[in-house]
Amino acid sequence: MSIRENIFNIQKEIPDKVTLIAVSKTKPLQDLEDAYECGMRDFGENKVQELMEKYDRFHKDVRWHLIGHLQTNKVKYLVGKVHLIHSLDSIKLLQQIEKVYSAENMIARVLIQINIGKEESKTGIFEEDIENIIEEIEKCNYVKALGIMVIIPKGDVESNRFYFRKTKGIWNTLSEKNYKNVQMEYLSMGMTKDYKTAIEEGSNMVRIGEGIFGQRIYN
Ligand SMILES: *Cc1c(COP(=O)(O)O)cnc(C)c1O
Repeated sequence: MSIRENIFNIQKEIPDKVTLIAVSKTKPLQDLEDAYECGMRDFGENKVQELMEKYDRFHKDVRWHLIGHLQTNKVKYLVGKVHLIHSLDSIKLLQQIEKVYSAENMIARVLIQINIGKEESKTGIFEEDIENIIEEIEKCNYVKALGIMVIIPKGDVESNRFYFRKTKGIWNTLSEKNYKNVQMEYLSMGMTKDYKTAIEEGSNMVRIGEGIFGQRIYN
């Protein structure tokens, strides 16, 4: 199926209040252009270098989402270019974001990435450490945490639902608190294979790559 058909089919299935992010990592600009022509304005990349290259060469009214792990030495390249950093996964990174953004007098919009399955292969904050990072976020002047991002462990629908529900529970709890610089606006969860379950469990932001652009080929 074409990119156009894929987007059309996905859009049909997701409610208006859910933001669809087209995850365009590894894909050429022509593919992004096809998605743009279908009305897509939110694009997700997992590498800073690739995001920057595409940023320079693509439409300026696009909202770029950094969804991959962010190294502290690369934060400086993102200022003024990304709409949302989905991958705040350590206090060290938080402090670097605060430092770099303060120097530019800009506000960083971030999501706290939670490692909900406590997988060693994944980055993200453990559930029990969320309070710690929030304490640090409250001290910031140039960082706003606007929600949570999660990549759940691989598993069947039942298992997916368990982790999505668990994440939504955390999101709900944080929503009821009145932390400085923290506001639960976005719940970024769900990818090609599991976005329907994610939405059923309360996601309002899904990140879809292969379901839109077809299989990725890594060299
Ligand atoms: C690649 C990626 C996606 C999209 O995955 P698909 O299975 O292609 O939909 C979503 N989120 C993150 C963090 C990714 O790295």
